[in-house]
Order: sequence, then C-alpha cells, then structure tokens
Amino acid sequence: MQKINLVKAEPSHVANQLLLGTGEVPVQYTSKVHSFPPPPMPLKNGKSIEKHSATPFPKYLHPDPEEVKLVVSLLSQLHGRPTRGEHVFPVLDSIVRTILSQNTTDKISQKAFMSLKTSFPSWRDVYEAYGSGRIEEAIKCGGLAELKAKNIHNILAYLLYEHFRRCPDGEPSYEWLRNESTAFCKAELIKHNGIGPKTISCVLMFNLMRDEFPVDTHVLHIAKMLRWVPSTASAEQSYAHLNFRVTSSLKYPLHVLLVEHGKRCPRCAKRSLQLPQEGPCPLQNLHDKLLDEAYSKRTAEPLGNQNGTTTSKRECDLGCNMLPIKTEPETPVKRRKVLQHLDMQG
Ligand SMILES: [Zn+2]
Repeated sequence: MQKINLVKAEPSHVANQLLLGTGEVPVQYTSKVHSFPPPPMPLKNGKSIEKHSATPFPKYLHPDPEEVKLVVSLLSQLHGRPTRGEHVFPVLDSIVRTILSQNTTDKISQKAFMSLKTSFPSWRDVYEAYGSGRIEEAIKCGGLAELKAKNIHNILAYLLYEHFRRCPDGEPSYEWLRNESTAFCKAELIKHNGIGPKTISCVLMFNLMRDEFPVDTHVLHIAKMLRWVPSTASAEQSYAHLNFRVTSSLKYPLHVLLVEHGKRCPRCAKRSLQLPQEGPCPLQNLHDKLLDEAYSKRTAEPLGNQNGTTTSKRECDLGCNMLPIKTEPETPVKRRKVLQHLDMQG
C-alpha cells in the first residue's frame, strides 16, 4: 500500500497523490453476471518503450550519482523529503486518472475522476454504461470527454475480453500487473490508445513502485538547465538518458522533487508558478558549481605525460577528446566557448 508523503503537506503533493492513484479515494466493487465477449477494440501497433540499458547521449556523463544525491538533498531541504506511504490504489484507477489528466490541470482532472467514481460504483458499471452518454457527462469538466470515455471503455473492454479470468467477479482489473516484469507492464500498457510512455512510467513508479524516472515538462526543463541533457533533447530522449543515468534508488524522490520545484521556483519554472515559492533556489549555486567544476576539469588541470611534461589536451569528462587544455588564465569568452562546446555534445 502506498501514499506519497512529504515532510510538509502541500497542495501539489495531494494533487499528485490523487492524480496518480495514491490518494485517499474510496473504491467500491460490485459483482455481476457477465455477458461477454464484447467486440474487439482497436489497439495501437506493438511499439514498446526501450529498456534502460542505453542512452541516446552516450557522451553526456551527467548526472553522476553525486550530482543526483546533491540535488535530492538540496531540494529535500526546501520542499521536504518524499517518502512512499503504505496505501496503494488499484492500478486501473491510476491509469484512468492519467487518461483524465490529459489536457487539463491536476485539480480539474481529480474532480472528473471523483465524478466518475461517484457516478459508477464499479469499472464494470462504467464499461456497461458506454454509449449512454453517462460517462461523458460524468467527466465533461475535464474536457475531451468523448475521446477519454472511448479510451477508458476500450481498456475496460480489453481487460474483460482478453483477460477475463484475471478480472475477479467480472470486475475489470489490472492488479495482475503487479506480478509481472517492468518490461511486460510497458509492453502491455503501451497497447492502449490514450496511454503514452510518460503515463506508463508514472504508473510504474508511483503505483507499481518500480525503478522508473518519468520525464514531464518540469523534469525536462530543469534537466536542461542542469545540463544533464542537451538543450535540444526531446522528452523521449531525456527519458532514456535519465533513466540510464539516475541512481535507481533515487529516481522516485528526484522525480517528485523536480516536479515540486518546477511548480514553485521562479528560476526553474518553465512558465509561471503553479504554486507559491518556498524559498531561494538551491539549484542556483549548483548550476554555477557544476559549471565551474566542469570548466576547471577541462581547463585548469594540465595532464603530465610519462616524460614529465604537460600535454596540451585532455579528454573531456563528457567523453569528447576535442577540447584543448588552456594553461593561460580563463576569460569570460573562453569560459563561454567551453560551455558552448559542452552544449554541442551528445
Ligand atoms: Zn530553482
């Protein structure tokens, strides 16, 4: 059983709990005589999410474990340390919540989910109500009601049609995913329309408690600020790189803290603040510190060779060996060139 707990209770934490199926939402199931099979529904072609065994940016050696640990520590001091609770909600609830969260805010999607749960005591009831307009009516506050209702119905029908034996008392269920491998869960969930890699990564991390690191708008923006990924990196590329680089045991707190920080920090928010600021940005000095360290490693440490003389080049610690060592004092122009060079890697 699981619930996100931070040291300080904050509105966004509550929203995350509710959005991702980790909050206190009453769930009721009823047993009914089934009338199956339903008609097959279209599924997406079998593309899958790549495993965390490679990165599209092999020359980017950041973040390293020390950087990850430092960022988690600094942000925990500001926002509170995220810890998993003891209560876990049904996997299917989490999936439906993420579908309802598309193109709307956390607050409104939570309202739509609560409306759906209030209107229908069970997922079987939702399945059987499709076509009556009642589902769309229940979730209309979140927008795209027809599309979301269709995607939810397709998942319920898929479970009842393809996995009926795993649906207790005819109630659609994805609880059996808890016993499956992460790779299997990804391949299974990516089949559905309305469920993308980010949604799956969130379900895996928050609900199934796997070592996943979802990359959303906030995470992507801050990762670029910290030069963990190239400035031109896409969310998909960053997902692959960061899941490869971030220490598994710190993926959960780092994700939660970056999202929280992206909502509250004027320096690190991509757009306007979604929540009140909690204090000065602790990553500001980190940016400078990391850049200074990266620069000094490339410029201020001429390497001695076997003859006792210094060499004019050393290998860039991001994997590039084209950066010349500067033995003369640095200047703002040189520093800028080095940083531009770093930006070009990957
Ligand atoms: Zn910040």
